[in-house]
Amino acid sequence: MNLVVAGIDLGGTNVKTAIVARNGEMLAKDSRPTDADEGLEKVLDNMSASLDAAMEQANADPSDLVAVGIGAPGPMNWRTGVVFSPPNLPGWDNVPLADLMAERHNVPTYVDNDANVACWGEFWSGAGREVDSMVCLTLGTGVGGGVVVHGRLLRGPDGTAAEIGHMCVARGGRVCNCGARGCLETYASVTGMVRTALEGIESGKRTILTDLCGGDVERIDGKMISNAIARGDEFAAWVMNETGIWLGTAIGSLINLINPEMVVLCGGMIAAGEALFAPIRATAKEQAFEVPANRAVIVPAGLGADSGVIGAAGCALQRYEEETKTRG
Ligand SMILES: [Zn+2]
Repeated sequence: MNLVVAGIDLGGTNVKTAIVARNGEMLAKDSRPTDADEGLEKVLDNMSASLDAAMEQANADPSDLVAVGIGAPGPMNWRTGVVFSPPNLPGWDNVPLADLMAERHNVPTYVDNDANVACWGEFWSGAGREVDSMVCLTLGTGVGGGVVVHGRLLRGPDGTAAEIGHMCVARGGRVCNCGARGCLETYASVTGMVRTALEGIESGKRTILTDLCGGDVERIDGKMISNAIARGDEFAAWVMNETGIWLGTAIGSLINLINPEMVVLCGGMIAAGEALFAPIRATAKEQAFEVPANRAVIVPAGLGADSGVIGAAGCALQRYEEETKTRG
């Protein structure tokens, strides 16, 4: 019998599931639309169908499944597995997600914050396999964060630890969705980067982005900015560089705070490569103390887009094993 664990990444657009061996190796994966607009039951049905399909693909028997882990958007209570009311899952209000999925599949189920599980995935099986302490940033519509210190994922009593996207990097800065001002994600998420581009265009900067978007600046996105850079557009390169400087500023502080061996960046934006990583590394080095700055390597995710699903499985496995140990 080959015991396996399942990880489910519950996003507002897609549900992804991975079946993972106990050593962290991914055996099968499934992805399908979340259909978030169709309400809770439909989302649960899609999660169940995704789990069943991935199990079948892995050729695993239900009795081989040790635990299921779900990476969900916050806020939530990770201990009870109750998800409060995520903005991208309309109609969700205090949903006992862990219990509902445990009943459906008759298997211990655990819920954790989606950025935290991505961090754990990179620590368990990705870029951070060999390290003891690391910081992870997920760059998407927002900026998610995770911190592992001495092999432990930092969750905090309220589950809000490592909300790196809401570190203040600019006093009185841009207004954030969380209500505060100057949060990192208002500058360094894909949305924040686009905002930097739009501000520049409004102030009269010349750029081929205005042609690429066909005159409709609302259409500008991260890919369009990368395209413009590839075509030699100086303004687009400046926008990417600014984004890297904002990230480097925060990462420099994180290096002083945590003294990590590694900082891992996840998300589609890391495809920008050196255009993004060079200003991040230079700024972090300027900002942080010399010794920890020299120690902390800043690298792209080792698991690509799978950090979240693999990490959700890893978190569940770890929590299951700890619970079993405690019970004796
Ligand atoms: Zn914020």
